[in-house]
Amino acid sequence: MKVLSVASEIFPLVKTGGLADVTGALPGAVAPLGVEMRTVVPGYPAVMAQLGKPKVLGTLEDVLGHSVTLLGAKVAGLDLIVVQAPGLYEREGGPYAGLDGIDFGDNWKRFAVLSKSAALIATGAIKGYRPDVVHVHDWQAAMVPCYLAFGDSPAPPSVITVHNIAFQGQFAAHVFGELGLPASAWADGVEYYGGVGFLKAGLRAAQAITTVSPTYAREIRTAEFGMGLEGLINGRADVVSGIVNGIDTDLWDPETDDCLVAPFSAKVLKAREKNRKAVIKSFGLAPAKGPILAVISRLTWQKGMDLLAEALDGIVAAGASVAILGAGDRDLEQAFIEAAARHPGRVAVHVGYDEPLAHLMQGGCDAILVPSRFEPCGLTQLYGLRYGCVPIVARTGGLADTVIDANMAARAAGVATGFHIGRLTAERIVDAVALACEVHDDKPAWTRMMKNGMASDVSWDASARGYVSLYQRLAGEAR
Ligand code: ADP
Repeated sequence: MKVLSVASEIFPLVKTGGLADVTGALPGAVAPLGVEMRTVVPGYPAVMAQLGKPKVLGTLEDVLGHSVTLLGAKVAGLDLIVVQAPGLYEREGGPYAGLDGIDFGDNWKRFAVLSKSAALIATGAIKGYRPDVVHVHDWQAAMVPCYLAFGDSPAPPSVITVHNIAFQGQFAAHVFGELGLPASAWADGVEYYGGVGFLKAGLRAAQAITTVSPTYAREIRTAEFGMGLEGLINGRADVVSGIVNGIDTDLWDPETDDCLVAPFSAKVLKAREKNRKAVIKSFGLAPAKGPILAVISRLTWQKGMDLLAEALDGIVAAGASVAILGAGDRDLEQAFIEAAARHPGRVAVHVGYDEPLAHLMQGGCDAILVPSRFEPCGLTQLYGLRYGCVPIVARTGGLADTVIDANMAARAAGVATGFHIGRLTAERIVDAVALACEVHDDKPAWTRMMKNGMASDVSWDASARGYVSLYQRLAGEAR
């Protein structure tokens, strides 16, 4: 089966978040199940620089006024179709914003051209290539199903995956006239609160909707999490499902990870102690009996970092130490720096983005704290499970789906892998940490939890099967 994936980011070529990890891992994960996946991405400078000698697969004369060249290349095992459109993608800065951090004013056009080009590819623009299913990711590719629905050619079925419903691609109403859609499309999916909504249009037009965990799939049907799209999601509940992300188990492998001082496994857990010492040294923590909690996070409201700042005094009083690695809101950075000054040796913060340190923390800290207000899937708790760094998580989205709470029943059955924070408040965060401290004191019980986590399947295998059965169903329905 042939699947055309469309995305604005793909690891290892261009990444700003978890989306890139998923689009980068999916092709390799579904290949053993008989799916040939090609991925359409924009020709940003970072992408162009890694193409080597690409092949010209075709040209599209006039895509919303732009001439587009489709370049084919195989990079890092990925089969890419790069959309090259002079003036649109080859710019300084990131995929969405310039060096000044301000979003490009023509993002609507950049991603409408990406989507329209992908829709043309899906309906035969490249000689000899016809996908059975189109899989698009997030608002940047969300107009693909819409272009397919309003196009002239018979179109393959499409699925849209929502990685975070907070990002919707909303633009002014006047943009509509330049999208090359019939006037009827305005009322038939594209109009969103008086403007243009890319994600909304995709959610309306795609044959199936997925998001990155079953709990988040339910949550986005409510006003609290749906961010204005809950009505639409509810109306299409029969085609909405959640498939949890996997992680790259080669890159994140405690037995081979170069960022660790000492590699370890569930069988040789003793070696982990050396990494713990390295964390203590690197953060300037005082050696302590209680657990060392890792926080590896964007410092934002979504991640509950304001609640964490409020909870820190209580966490220290409960007996834990905290090592924070993160960057984000200046106020939160400051709050953590102040907490570190109040609790020298017990709370330490490293402001910045440091991939090797993130690995060392997962391999050396005792627990990882993830108090997110919402979390479509979340990756840090999955790394924690694999590295024996017991997750303490908010009971939301993918966090709830991937961590088995150490409630009485789960502990009695010996199956717990972490701790859920009930209703998310600073007090409840302290309560969950206090319980973790208690279990940490009971070495056999704690080791059991670490080993349970390390035995959890956090690979792409199950997710890949989920996506492939969805593709098969869509292709079957289309026949
Ligand atoms: P989100 O994509 O919403 O930020 P995820 O948990 O899905 O949250 O993914 C976050 C990823 O970014 C993880 O791989 C995590 O290790 C990494 N990360 C976040 N902050 C930092 C940091 N300051 N330094 C290193 N890695 C970080």
